[in-house]
Amino acid sequence: MLLIGEPLVWSTPLRTRFRGIDVRDGVLLRGEAGWGELSPFWDYDDAESATWLRAAHEAATTGWPEPVRQSVPVNVTVPAVGPERARAIVLASGGCRTAKVKVAQRGPDGTLEPVSAEVERVAAVREALGPDGAIRVDANAAWTPDEALAHLAEIDRAAGGLEYVEQPCADVDELALVRRKQDVPVAADESIRRASDPMRVVRQEAADIVVLKVQPLGGVRACLDLAEQVGLPVVVSSALESSVGLAAGVALAAALPELPYACGLATSQLLTHDVVAQPLLPVDGALPVRRPEPSPEALAAARADDATTERWLARYHRLTRILEDA
Ligand SMILES: [Mg+2]
Repeated sequence: MLLIGEPLVWSTPLRTRFRGIDVRDGVLLRGEAGWGELSPFWDYDDAESATWLRAAHEAATTGWPEPVRQSVPVNVTVPAVGPERARAIVLASGGCRTAKVKVAQRGPDGTLEPVSAEVERVAAVREALGPDGAIRVDANAAWTPDEALAHLAEIDRAAGGLEYVEQPCADVDELALVRRKQDVPVAADESIRRASDPMRVVRQEAADIVVLKVQPLGGVRACLDLAEQVGLPVVVSSALESSVGLAAGVALAAALPELPYACGLATSQLLTHDVVAQPLLPVDGALPVRRPEPSPEALAAARADDATTERWLARYHRLTRILEDA
């Protein structure tokens, strides 16, 4: 099936600085199967970003496999904030029963935040969630193995038991070491989506769970294939997309044979403006399996300036050429 019309560029401020960015932007493609989103972060080069375009093409021209469930439980994400703010974020989460808390933040000079700050954040999240909620932490590959072991012991105690730790260290060998030396299950994120060989995690028994993201892995079907090869439980997470891109993550989570954990797809609330009239927001801690379409009013609010539009269209055309030559 074919693409229809010209790509649309959108841009919106984030409500909270996240992943070192204040603005999220991207391109929407329309095709015979619906809308697709292309929004690689600007620190990704063209070679890596071309995979993201495959996901947008799949959404617009092929569509996704049939869902096996009608709603997807999701986690609330708590950035590296103080305990008061952490508590407020959990309480405003739309009933999420799982929280993902960012840890291992480094300051501009490279110093790691003290474990006391992580402990306070996680304890505030536990208090807000209550005893039966689940808490996971994400270190974004920022700890050494020794730091991971020292910090995790205290954070796990403050949390009253962690569900898992996501990407405590950068290397697969380090993940395997941390997994062997303590009891909190380990999830691999960066080691899957930015690795030339995602199966290394499996061969080295470096993870209990894998995090899959549709755009960086090249589409819903590519993720389903990878999930089958990996054979470990999957958590689907977003790349901070608009609801058009989030819908692809929801489609993946809805099509996986098993979905034992809440997914990281409740990120629309980080955007000041989404591109659809009714963004994918959690109700009772879950997202409904649906595919919202951009609305003219929402697009007008998330309109990109001329320089951003030109920059994205140029990038889109470069990535298209890479896929055509592949
Ligand atoms: Mg992560």
